[in-house]
Formats: sequence, C-alpha cells, structure tokens
Amino acid sequence: MRHPLIAANWKMFGTLDGVQRYLETLIGHLQPGNPQVVVCPPYTLLPAAVMVATGSAVAIGAQSCHWEEKGAFTGEVAAPMLAELGVTWVVVGHSERRQYFGETDATAAARARAAQRAGLSCIFCLGELLTEREAGQTLAVLERQSAVLAGLDPTRLALAYEPVWAIGTGRNATPEQAQEAHTFLRQRIASLLGSDAAAGLRILYGGSVKPENAAAILSQADVDGALVGGASLDVDAFSAIIHAASGSSRAG
Ligand code: PEP
Repeated sequence: MRHPLIAANWKMFGTLDGVQRYLETLIGHLQPGNPQVVVCPPYTLLPAAVMVATGSAVAIGAQSCHWEEKGAFTGEVAAPMLAELGVTWVVVGHSERRQYFGETDATAAARARAAQRAGLSCIFCLGELLTEREAGQTLAVLERQSAVLAGLDPTRLALAYEPVWAIGTGRNATPEQAQEAHTFLRQRIASLLGSDAAAGLRILYGGSVKPENAAAILSQADVDGALVGGASLDVDAFSAIIHAASGSSRAG
C-alpha cells in the first residue's frame, strides 16, 4: 500500500515564533488515518521545528542539501548536518532551485544521493516548463529528468511532479494531466528501479494545490499526495489539504 504523503514547502517564508505556533496547531489538527505529513521550513527554523514536532506525527524536512558531506562550499548545508538536527526529509531539485540557482538534473541527483547516504528521505522534484508542455514535450522532459534516479534507494524516495507553469501561479494541472504524468513516471521508475519500487513509490503532485482543488487531484489513482507551497503557509488551508487526502491509501 502507498500511504499518502502531504508535504509543505515554505520556501523563504516563516519566523521563529510562527513556526512554533504553526506546528502546535497542525499537530492538534491531525487525526489517526491522516496521510504522512512533512513540513519543510527554511534552514534557520529547522531546530525549532524539530523540537516542536518530535514525538508527533509531523516530520521535518529541509528544502535542499549539498552533495558533499563537508568542505569549502560557502552558504551550503550538508545532509549529515541536517540529520544531526533531527531532520528526516529533504526536497531536492525544486524548479526554483533549477531556475534561480543553476540546479541541473545531475546536481539534483547528487544531492539526493547525499541525502540518502546521510539517512534522509528525499522528495525529488521534476516537471516541465510551459513552453515544453505547449510543444508536446512533457513526457520527453520527464524521461530526461528522471533518468538520474537510477541507483537511488526507492525506500527513501518520493517524487514530486511539479509542472513549472503551475507553481505559484494559481493555475493547477487538471487531475487528468497529473494522472498522465504520474503514470508515465511510475513506468519510468519500473524500468529504472524495478517494478516493486514503482508499485511502492509515492508520486506527489505539486503546483497551486489548495483546499478547493486538492480532493480532485488526489483522487487520481497514481497521485499519492501533494507538495504544497503557498497554501501550506496557512495552517488551516494546509490542514484542509491533509484531510482531503485522508483515507486514500493506494494498492501498491
Ligand atoms: C512548491 O513550491 O513546490 C509549490 C508547488 O508551490 P505552490 O503550491 O505555491 O504552487
């Protein structure tokens, strides 16, 4: 069975006071049978987030990590440093990292390998640009971006299909567009990592997920959860998305 996973990507938002109140409220809203929940605030808030979330059903993730364990990489944070804090997840290859910070398929894969070496699970993001979708290249882009997943440990991996044109734009993919991409990615995982890995791997959808559209997207057979940006900053909206995914485990 694939247990749904709902992850919050706070991007570069949040305060120390806010993260504590947010997590206390979120933990209070969770019920048995809810999806697995991961909250990924900025690096500076991770220690406080881990402190509040320890012992609860909420796991804490980072938004990236470096591919080396240590070294002269000013401004970067290594995966073992995150693990030492009690962080258990990391987002890798987000389109904003690809767009603004030169992330490539190869560097994203190197970060994912480093995360797994440190014992972290990763949410590996991929998705096409609007021009690529309009040119009919969506599946070719996903094929190229997913090629680097070979060799990763599928038990510490989730994918996030995030069409770039849907991130932070208010324009989400239709449930059918999401299902088509997720089906393709599951087939790719079967050929790269084996059919058992493909059956068990969670593929999240990301891109303007809100309480109003979450149920329709999450009802698709191969959509195993969501990576939520903007709407995750509001704890009530994020809780509503979590509840929309409740009770929807998939046969693996
Ligand atoms: C994201 O940051 O991964 C994301 C999907 O953002 P949003 O939900 O705001 O589109």
